[in-house]
Amino acid sequence: MLILAAAPAFAHTLTLDGAMEQGGLIHGKAEPGARVTLDGHAIRVAPDGAFIFGFFRNAPAHAALDITYPDGAKTHRDLSVTAQHYQIQPIEGLPENQVSPNPETLKRILHDIAAIKAAHKIDSSDLDFETPFIWPVLGPISGVFGSQRVLDGQPRAPHAGTDIAAPAGTPVKAPAGGTVIIAEPDFVLDGGTVVIDHGYGLSTLYIHLSKIAVHKGEHVRQGQVIGAVGATGRATGANLHWGVYWYEMALDPMLAAGPMPKVGQ
Ligand SMILES: [Zn+2]
Repeated sequence: MLILAAAPAFAHTLTLDGAMEQGGLIHGKAEPGARVTLDGHAIRVAPDGAFIFGFFRNAPAHAALDITYPDGAKTHRDLSVTAQHYQIQPIEGLPENQVSPNPETLKRILHDIAAIKAAHKIDSSDLDFETPFIWPVLGPISGVFGSQRVLDGQPRAPHAGTDIAAPAGTPVKAPAGGTVIIAEPDFVLDGGTVVIDHGYGLSTLYIHLSKIAVHKGEHVRQGQVIGAVGATGRATGANLHWGVYWYEMALDPMLAAGPMPKVGQ
């Protein structure tokens, strides 16, 4: 017998994967046509119902996620966001022109910063954002996300990425597919710089590269070599500074990529 009346509400699906922590990147999946808000702000949802969002460095302890399904049914989730404990990291002994640049250098620095900012703002419909990241380089972590930099006694912006130590020339791989937005060999502070857009506001940044193997506008696939580790720009040694961004919000790459596989695996 077919019963149509008083049927229980259709069980709508919602999955959330990722670290519910400050700096965490969350992959969500609802249903095609679902609408999603985080703390009342609409989040873009892909045709298959996938979406992402992040928690900034000092995100509050609670966030509210609301889903409205195409049939009008609603789901509400209270998310608990774990606090991270950030280090204080002194940086000493940089060349004077990088600590207090002259006006001409400062102009170039501001231009570089604006270009990177514009790249992070891109809101494309590339679906590569759904692919879980692989690590771009394997090696010891030499700098963690969120640490408070103190440059020659002056507090500076918190560290916005993860530093991975590796010999100069080590290939750097795309953690997921995407489109190259920036491929610049010589930014003042960042040196060789690449930004990849993975879609829906997710982008990744690679700096201090000694070599760039991609060009602006190129679509790369996961694992493709995009350049090589170096010490260009303001670097204290050969390392990859890897940044992960949800729009302009810096996230913790270690949380986004998960535990690093052991070298040799
Ligand atoms: Zn760094």
